[in-house]
Amino acid sequence: MNPMEIDVTNIILLVLLILIMIYLVYDSYIKKPRKKTYVVRELLTCTKCKFNVERDFEPGDFIGIIKGKCPSCGGDLKLKAIYAVEKK
Ligand SMILES: [Zn+2]
Repeated sequence: MNPMEIDVTNIILLVLLILIMIYLVYDSYIKKPRKKTYVVRELLTCTKCKFNVERDFEPGDFIGIIKGKCPSCGGDLKLKAIYAVEKK
């Protein structure tokens, strides 16, 4: 076998390998932004005036817990709902 032929075959294989690697990196790079991330929020409602406050969920919170005071009337804020929303 001619040594030059071996070199050409090796170069072709190397180029193919590089193309496959670029494809794999490109593919995983493109897929990443599609992955949706969620953030957990909680809805607090005033027991007196029905004032609503939405804030980030804190571990240990549960529906029905009294959390803080209403900024509008000073009444108790009760946790009404816990839910996940898509992160922007
Ligand atoms: Zn209130």
